[in-house]
Amino acid sequence: MVVADLYRQMVVLLRSVFTDNVEFEVECLLKHYFKINSAGFTEHLRMKISYNQYQSCLELAKRRMAHEPLDYILGNSEFMGRLYDVGSGVLIPRSETELLVQEAQCVIPQFFSSAFMGIEFGFGSGIISIELALTFSDSSWLSFDISDEPVKVATKNAQRYDITSIDWKHMDFFESKSLWQDSDQLLFLVANPPYIPTKDLKLLHKSVKNHEPLIALDGGESGLVMYQNMFSLCQDNEFLICLECGINQSESIINFASEFGFRCLNKVFDYQQIPRVLTFTNQI
Ligand code: GLN
Repeated sequence: MVVADLYRQMVVLLRSVFTDNVEFEVECLLKHYFKINSAGFTEHLRMKISYNQYQSCLELAKRRMAHEPLDYILGNSEFMGRLYDVGSGVLIPRSETELLVQEAQCVIPQFFSSAFMGIEFGFGSGIISIELALTFSDSSWLSFDISDEPVKVATKNAQRYDITSIDWKHMDFFESKSLWQDSDQLLFLVANPPYIPTKDLKLLHKSVKNHEPLIALDGGESGLVMYQNMFSLCQDNEFLICLECGINQSESIINFASEFGFRCLNKVFDYQQIPRVLTFTNQI
């Protein structure tokens, strides 16, 4: 048996569950397993394979058929054109989150001329802090995540891009105030917090609700609790804040931000015209 035979069998298997992207996914799985790049793939199709290799690749196809996200099987994800490690304890990067990073890249130079302190709430794989640390080489970061897995994944991702300016804190952001409250400088906060209302979690696709960490998705009854807590925690310091939010949430968030003294500077719409990224400040 050669790789091409295996390829065909895997396509048939995946097609019994999925309609889209089947050939693409099989190619990704095979390239991942045999550690080959796109250039070598066609050539590789003619290679003979062992029974073990055959079994292992079918195993990968079966994981995918059980709706495990492709990026978890491959162990990495692309974000802002760079490759990052991901694993089942961290959320897979979403294209909407690129809008959050782009908004931060755009608005930070309007408020800071050089060095600044960035804070991230719920860093997951670390991609947001890392992208911004790469863009702003004078910035230093205190990034928080309450779960175990993110610290390992984010540390590895930071090493991959030689980033040493981020202090990954395995702790609850809402217990972190003593670490930054003495600053008399304007601080920058970025977050893609959990924002799905608890009752809507069951509506998420199987690949999300059965495989991705719910703690990174569950925004409580209204989906808005994290935003309220963030503005409340940050109100006594001066902040520039960029946040990702969910569908139909922007107006409520803007309203209670104003109750805590924050005004909305920008609203960025995503590809579905949903207001997805909001920027606030309470600087006088
Ligand atoms: N955008 C993610 C999703 O729909 C949710 C991310 C989040 O809650 N921060 O799966």
